Amino acid sequence: MAERLPGGYAGKILRVDLTTRKMTQERLGPKELRRWVGGTGVGTHYLYQEVPPGVEWSDPRNRVTLASGPLAGTRVSGTGNYSAVFKGPMTNLAGATQANGYFGAFMRFCGYDGVVFEGAAERPVYLLFADDGPQLRDADALWGKDTRQVEETLHAELGLSDRQLSVFSIGPSGESGCFFAGVVGDRGHIAAHNGFGAVLGAKRVKAVAAVRGSGKIPVHDPDRLGSLVGSLFEAAKSFGGGSLYKWGTAGGLSGAAIGGWLPVRNYTTSVFPEHEQVNGQYLRTHFRVKPSPCWACRMSCCQEIEVAEGPYKGYRGEEPEYEGMASFAPNVGVTEAGAAVMLCNECDKLGLDLNEAGWVVSFTMEAYERGIVTKADLDGLEMTWGNAEAARALLHKIARREGFGEVLAGGVKRAAERLGGEAIDIGVYTMKGSTPRSHDHRGRWAELFDTCTSNTGTIEATFGGVQYERLGLPPVRDRFSPEEVSRANAQFNGWHQFDDCLGVCRFCFTNASLGIDALNAVTGWDFTLDEAMAVGRRIVNQLRVFNFRHGLRKEMERPSPRYGSVPVDGPAAGKGIMPHWDFMLRNYYEHMGWDPETGKPLPETLRKLGLGDLVGAY
Ligand code: SF4
Repeated sequence: MAERLPGGYAGKILRVDLTTRKMTQERLGPKELRRWVGGTGVGTHYLYQEVPPGVEWSDPRNRVTLASGPLAGTRVSGTGNYSAVFKGPMTNLAGATQANGYFGAFMRFCGYDGVVFEGAAERPVYLLFADDGPQLRDADALWGKDTRQVEETLHAELGLSDRQLSVFSIGPSGESGCFFAGVVGDRGHIAAHNGFGAVLGAKRVKAVAAVRGSGKIPVHDPDRLGSLVGSLFEAAKSFGGGSLYKWGTAGGLSGAAIGGWLPVRNYTTSVFPEHEQVNGQYLRTHFRVKPSPCWACRMSCCQEIEVAEGPYKGYRGEEPEYEGMASFAPNVGVTEAGAAVMLCNECDKLGLDLNEAGWVVSFTMEAYERGIVTKADLDGLEMTWGNAEAARALLHKIARREGFGEVLAGGVKRAAERLGGEAIDIGVYTMKGSTPRSHDHRGRWAELFDTCTSNTGTIEATFGGVQYERLGLPPVRDRFSPEEVSRANAQFNGWHQFDDCLGVCRFCFTNASLGIDALNAVTGWDFTLDEAMAVGRRIVNQLRVFNFRHGLRKEMERPSPRYGSVPVDGPAAGKGIMPHWDFMLRNYYEHMGWDPETGKPLPETLRKLGLGDLVGAY
């Protein structure tokens, strides 16, 4: 007899063998669920078990797990989230990336907590979850379409509205194998990092879709959960002074400019006087916006937008988030908000991670200014700072690997190495192979350090700096303290991996105590903060062992020369992290319970987390 599951779980994981087109079901038992919870945890479990060393990101033996978590589809705000885990091309190491919207909730209403893809299809396919079971459908007619066209086509074909069908797809960039392709859906949401879209493209999976099924998520204590829903929302609404609720994430752009962590022209300066022309406040007071919320969310942070002035007047799309506006305004020298809105939406349609895309464009603009690349090299494009139309044309070339786009489709690090010479000095990237989120991390060391030491090619311990207040702790006092930053990153590391197991948006999950109460109300468990952190740190350590088995070396945990350079102006002028780097690594490794010389998890650290079977595996 099957063991009784805790509340909050649909109870099944779908396995799709794309090579044979065979679909099977499997279950995770109560012990495994408590160990990995869902989302990133479940994906980490499958990745480690099923992808041995020697399997590269494009190998059909690579696995992709899309999983949601026990809160998804409940009344808790922002619970349409899912996490994807795989081996990704930017680092050729582990990748874990999340998206909001509806998919995480709708898949579970159809009876599944997640899906594992293995093999590779001969012809393009898409996976549809529906009440009468999952179907693997031909996608020949979708291949070549951009992500918005795929959404519109499937909504029209199935006769279902935005709120009845969730669609996430790859665009031309995922099809061509661009290394920073993401998976875009539900009107502008993207699981972006470490080339998730390229991995699905290599498997010839054009899209995943889920009908809003009729199933219900079993909740252990509905009254208790009901009493927490409002408190969680109020905590999220007021978090960080309430700016997110009022202005969206782009409402933080001027704060970044003033604080010295806005990325400007590929780090050639840290000063951007025009920030008030392209921030969230400007978008919401000058352009037409309409809320486009995710599942059960009242945060209003996602909006549809119509540009109401300037050369792109009438352009319609999704309101860009902070990272998009930072990528395609200050980082490429654009000072006109409509142009940045257009470029962000072009990225979405092409299926590009707009962080890496912004860095690739700004790198090319600086290379052009310095004469490292010429107009002839760039197929006639004049890549001057702020040239939005040239940037648009370049993005299309990159997505399809056409002309100079082929050089750039591997991201900044590979392009810099291919061009050689001075190009190596101007690229912003980590030695693992990816670029940072769209910030000037030289003004916020916690994220620079996190980006270089994380498992998945992007920030993990941090999220707008180390947000100690999420755990009810006092904030970091000095953002330029080598000791405090490296220690705080280690102490906090694990929390976000845990919340990525739950199926909830991070913006809606700002109070750890309330969040853990909600998890217990749904499941019937008695989680504490310690157990939650243990789940997160189990993920961190298992992914780290995975990465060492797949080629990680300590020398790769460093920034490129430009990424680790000293700002020449702005609030962080003169602050240089590199003289402290070796000390910070050592301090961080020690606080993580890793060998301070090699960075490898110590046997006692693994045993304490119930990972004793990994000892000696790397
Ligand atoms: S806060 Fe924004 S991204 Fe998060 S679930 Fe709500 S609308 Fe979606």
